[in-house]
Amino acid sequence: MSQAHKLYEGKAKILYSTDNPEILLSHFKDDATAFNAQKRGQISGKGEINCAIASRLFQLLEAEGIPTHFIERTAPNQMLVKRVKILALEVVVRNIAAGSLCQQTGLPVGKVLPNPLVEFYLKNDELGDPLLTRDRLLLLELATPEQLNQLQEQALRINQILTAFFGRCDITLVDFKLEFGITSTQELILADEISPDTCRLWNQSETDPNRRIMDKDRFRRDLGNVEDAYQQVLERVNAHCSSSEQNS
Ligand code: UDP
Repeated sequence: MSQAHKLYEGKAKILYSTDNPEILLSHFKDDATAFNAQKRGQISGKGEINCAIASRLFQLLEAEGIPTHFIERTAPNQMLVKRVKILALEVVVRNIAAGSLCQQTGLPVGKVLPNPLVEFYLKNDELGDPLLTRDRLLLLELATPEQLNQLQEQALRINQILTAFFGRCDITLVDFKLEFGITSTQELILADEISPDTCRLWNQSETDPNRRIMDKDRFRRDLGNVEDAYQQVLERVNAHCSSSEQNS
């Protein structure tokens, strides 16, 4: 790792080059942002916690046949990943109404959706990450029609796997955001991270609508105990990943 150069610094991670042009080092930061970076802060220990959770979840998905950019966790807040060209869109999957879905449609928070909803958003902070239609997505050439179908299929499959896994952790997977990238061999794979920064996670043992929140909504809405909630997610993920490893 002699010639590591910083290639890109995002809101939650820094990407460095490695000696291998096909492999990058992803460094998870403690920085937290919300509302398109209008709210900024730090969640102490978040980098390590999110890196640990994302590593576990990528391994779980790989074991279920979902291709991801994850190679290995090399330090508490660092993982090696495959170099990809990230698609300029965010894929959101929703099981329960929350966040922008409620603000934009009037659906009540907590309404269980009859089927998982897959949505696409433009990755563009200046434009406020607008919701895309299928035709707008194709118009902007953010993906080919074939890739769009693959994204939809993968997102639903990932949702099935993660919903079942978090269910075993007594956590409800309300919604989450995914990012995908294209490898040098033109394979479409899951990239970025899956963590309490990118998911809504509700503790099934709590009925109080604020106390049950175990994700970045605690930071967005100044609910306090952000670190504790993230740590609790990690502990449950670790406990259930180890038990599925022992059972396999
Ligand atoms: N999300 C994310 N990054 C974004 C936008 C959304 O990780 O830039 C996640 C968010 O944490 C939630 C899901 O995607 O789990 C759906 O977010 P929503 O569209 O409801 O927007 P929000 O209420 O977070 O602004």
